Amino acid sequence: MKLLEGKVALITGASRGIGKGVAEAFARSGANVAFTYLSSVEKGEALEKELAAHGIKAKGYRSDASDFKAAEELVTAVCTDFGTVDILVNNAGITRDTLLMRMSEQQWDEVIHANLKSVFNLTKAIQRPMLKQRKGSIINMSSVVGVKGNPGQSNYAASKAGIIGFTKSVALELGSRNIRSNAIAPGFIETEMTAALDPKVVQSWKDSIPLKRGGTVEDVANLAIFLASDLSGYITGQVINVCGGMLT
Ligand code: NAP
Repeated sequence: MKLLEGKVALITGASRGIGKGVAEAFARSGANVAFTYLSSVEKGEALEKELAAHGIKAKGYRSDASDFKAAEELVTAVCTDFGTVDILVNNAGITRDTLLMRMSEQQWDEVIHANLKSVFNLTKAIQRPMLKQRKGSIINMSSVVGVKGNPGQSNYAASKAGIIGFTKSVALELGSRNIRSNAIAPGFIETEMTAALDPKVVQSWKDSIPLKRGGTVEDVANLAIFLASDLSGYITGQVINVCGGMLT
């Protein structure tokens, strides 16, 4: 039997990058997959077809994770279409990198809304069906930057550190109902998000990684499968780094 056979997963921001990798890995592991995207409509539609080819149920929804009402409507729609949700992966995220000296209020607000408020929105909405079925696994995509900080990313680091505090609090609140909440802290993973970085910065990051390479989306997806599955049934409130040893 496949590790996620019969489970229903909802993944935010799966049109590309890590979210797409997690959606593909979950489908290969037998999960039925609901996923969201915001601007990448064609990529979202293509992914729906690709996932369904694994013989599971797959559906993409265009939904803004930073919008409270949209998150509520999304969870209602997914529960109607799939019956329930067992796994929530809060993956959607953006960067608006610049030094604090130059950072605008808009750059701060956009990142906090897309990265942190989205996690509140989706978790709040998913609480009800998970409480009803007395089980669930919530996986939040933080970052090593949220643990360590990073110059030029004070907005992003604050959002990712906020996710860690939220993840641990939810684990404490919902543990007695068999709902687990964990965070993944990826290091440098090669996606479109990191392709936008200065190549010199990228090289210096790679040089400082003990495993001497950037991570792949599969490296992150493998941990997500574990946290989503019953293999991690006694693990909650944790932050696990996937960073090639960058942060020890
Ligand atoms: P990416 O390639 O830029 O993809 C981001 C995804 O999030 C896209 O599918 C995008 O959808 C979606 N998204 C953005 N804002 C959204 C919103 N408001 N509502 C719904 N979807 C939204 O990023 P990535 O590198 O895969 O990163 C994924 C997550 O991992 C992020 O939370 C990121 O902070 C975290 N992370 C990444 C790294 C890394 O090295 N790559 C390291 C640590 C943590 P559209 O394309 O449709 O807009």
